[in-house]
Amino acid sequence: MLNVTIDGIKVQVKEGSTILQAAQSVGIEIPTLCYLKDLTPEASCRICLVEIEGNPKLFTACSTPVAEGNVIHTKSEKVIAARRSVLDLMLSTHRADCFSCAKNGECQLQNLCYEYGVEQTSYEGVRNDYPIDDSNEFFTYNPQQCILCQRCVNVCQKLHGESAIGIVNRGFKAKIATPFDQLLRSTNCVSCGNCVSVCPVGALLPKSRVRFRAFETKKVPTTCTYCGVGCQLELQVKDNTVVGAQPLYGEANKGLLCVKGKFGYNFINHKDRLTKPLIRKDGVLVESEWDEAIGYIADKIKTIKAESGADALAGLSSARCSNEDNYVFQKMMRAAIGTNNVDHCARLCHASTVAGLAITLGSGAMTNSIAEAADQDVVFVTGSNTTETHPVIGSLIRQAKRKGAKIIVAEPRRIPLCREADVFLQIKPGTNVALFNGMMNVIISEGLQDQKYIDERTEGYEALCEVVKDYTPEVVAEICNIDAEELKKAARLYAKADKAGIYYAMGVTQHSTGTEGVMGTSNLALLCGKIGKYGCGVNPLRGQNNVQGACDMGCLPTDFPAYQKVFNDAAREKFERAWGVRLSGKPGLTVTEIMNAVEEGKVRGLYIMGENPMMSDPDINHVRKALENCELLVVQDIFLTETAALADVVLPGCTFAEKDGTFTNTERRVQRIRKAINCVGESKADFEILSEVMAALGYANSFRTADEVFAEMATVTPSYGGMSYERLEKGGLQWPCPTADHPGTPILHVGKFSRGERALFKPAPYRPSAETPDSEYPMIFTTGRILYHYHTSTMTGRVEGLMNISGRSYVEVNPADAAKLDIVSGDSVKVSSRRGGVIVEARVTDIVPEGVLFMPFHFADGPANLLTNTAIDPTAKIPELKVCAARIEKA
Ligand code: SF4
Repeated sequence: MLNVTIDGIKVQVKEGSTILQAAQSVGIEIPTLCYLKDLTPEASCRICLVEIEGNPKLFTACSTPVAEGNVIHTKSEKVIAARRSVLDLMLSTHRADCFSCAKNGECQLQNLCYEYGVEQTSYEGVRNDYPIDDSNEFFTYNPQQCILCQRCVNVCQKLHGESAIGIVNRGFKAKIATPFDQLLRSTNCVSCGNCVSVCPVGALLPKSRVRFRAFETKKVPTTCTYCGVGCQLELQVKDNTVVGAQPLYGEANKGLLCVKGKFGYNFINHKDRLTKPLIRKDGVLVESEWDEAIGYIADKIKTIKAESGADALAGLSSARCSNEDNYVFQKMMRAAIGTNNVDHCARLCHASTVAGLAITLGSGAMTNSIAEAADQDVVFVTGSNTTETHPVIGSLIRQAKRKGAKIIVAEPRRIPLCREADVFLQIKPGTNVALFNGMMNVIISEGLQDQKYIDERTEGYEALCEVVKDYTPEVVAEICNIDAEELKKAARLYAKADKAGIYYAMGVTQHSTGTEGVMGTSNLALLCGKIGKYGCGVNPLRGQNNVQGACDMGCLPTDFPAYQKVFNDAAREKFERAWGVRLSGKPGLTVTEIMNAVEEGKVRGLYIMGENPMMSDPDINHVRKALENCELLVVQDIFLTETAALADVVLPGCTFAEKDGTFTNTERRVQRIRKAINCVGESKADFEILSEVMAALGYANSFRTADEVFAEMATVTPSYGGMSYERLEKGGLQWPCPTADHPGTPILHVGKFSRGERALFKPAPYRPSAETPDSEYPMIFTTGRILYHYHTSTMTGRVEGLMNISGRSYVEVNPADAAKLDIVSGDSVKVSSRRGGVIVEARVTDIVPEGVLFMPFHFADGPANLLTNTAIDPTAKIPELKVCAARIEKA
């Protein structure tokens, strides 16, 4: 440790600390403009100048390391004079239109000029005359207000990991060139807005910012409602309307956001929001009062239960709602109604993760923490379009690349991350199991396995060797349609690295062999001793904001909260004591089984909260038939979705901005959401609505606040047992966190697996997808997500800028296939499978290989899930959304 004195205060700091860090550690403020946390300081703005006794010159605090015995002055006359000179020079290039500037009141240059008494520049006639660039959907760039601090360039290039903007020209003619600027000709801007977030002045401004002043707003810290990264952000609120979002420095997002988190908030106050309950009368949904709607639902549920038993009712909970909402939902289904028929769309995305990793490791969740992605030697991404579906994790992976990491991508599509890849294995959709077996074959035959780890911490190794011995690189190259040498290269890179993590998503899970694919990732990591270690692990990237939490909360037909089994007598008795009722020990139905049972009339009443199976489930025609057959369909949502439009009763829930609660992100981190605005119209928090329904059913609940729900949940959920709102106020906690003094668990399976002393190798031979191409349907059809939309686009579809960038359904087709059918980009084409057909726009691109068609599943104008297959994985019951046979023709 080093001892220094700053402004008369004695400070002890670690060797290598900068003067700025030393000052910040004791609360001494030194102004900065170009400085960004996590980056090597540029020291280009020089506003952080300080004096060190015994030195005639001044030093930049952000870049100067402290030395033993330094006596530092941050506010001496010499320092103040130097900072005034810096500000004077900055003002010379900055158009000081403070009255009209939207940044007025929170401009860091304005604040510093005020603090240092600099009212105008002493330089004349040096400002540039470049016009405002407003070509981006979400923000403008005004070169005349730019102070060239380069924060925007640095955040784009070094933290986001792209080079979409840069500096062009020199001297007073220098400016930031945006992607749309002819001087830069960059095409890789994804409108993440991180440049806007870090701009200290009014040069980069959100377009919406013209409508309010900073001092008119309040700022509420919360968690992004979109993907499973769980970025921390601050909502800006004016007059009960969310008008802006600014990143916070969360453990997962490190001050970054993507385009949805930064600019995707306009759905919150959208005119389409449901504001009153609706009841179907004479075939039409009409507005009603809450009492009438709740009474109607309760009466119908009671009747069905009396006539057909509790298992004639089912519920679909929501990965978009909070932990509190989900906890109360499954409690309503189990305690107030009496059935375990409760599931949610984790069944459609990561049920195979929950099942597969529970078998091999004992816990079906991401083993490591998100931040480790930036600090690896090898990153293996498979079945995940990470930069589009989990954009901030994509940025961290690019940061790792910039630090020297090797990237392996195994994907059917040439996704954006392929630009960074050292090895790209463009596998045939549905061949993941063969790929993993092939990599393990190479590793074992070349002796690259971690035998000590295998001997000490695993079981089943012989069975693994027996299965993978047949998967030689040549055999796998044939199955996956890849190069055998590239497969070997990937296997060697992964096995030899000290820190190597596997990141996967639905390209691995959404198959009839999904559980076997997931276990393949686990087998591979165990073989190389890469579980239970920093920078390694098996990392399933959960898609929706709270899909991890909804599973943790027991919205699964076999599980109470924390995966305690409904058929385990001890677990059931525990919940019976806690909830004061007898509970069913009969496992309930899964999402796909529920739809079948509704169609067959075995389930007569279905309660859906925050889900849209008319867009998200496979074979939508089948879903429609089922829902139209349902005697009581209740939908609780924020918009009249495609599913809500079929309902008997629609209840208006509210958004994440209108309620308190928690989300659990993909790294098991439980984080707060906070009420920023009052509920829109007569909408209510979902847990409040559910409590009212439970009361109407005769099960009294005393939940008045989300805090009370969380407190009860923590008493019956061991992995959340040490958490409380009081603790979460200080930051998120990763489960397991069993006691109030437990710090949370950033890495699972350290020293001991959740399953016990040893993890299990569970090998499986490759099996082809349930439906493969034939002469009638000669192509492989696959689906996925894109950057600008989220799930069934009920929210992103109401954000104008996102819709302007990507507002229609489309199909990607390889140029060779397109040429055979005389299809060019922009043509209307019909894509058909055995279940139906859609007419969409063709995009001819080599992103997809020959013989493969890809459609995003977000768009109602051409719903991809009209085509997808309902074949399921026998263990996890997840449908094979990623592969079916299809045909394309000109419409
Ligand atoms: Fe939100 Fe995910 Fe984007 Fe973060 S990466 S801002 S959590 S959508």
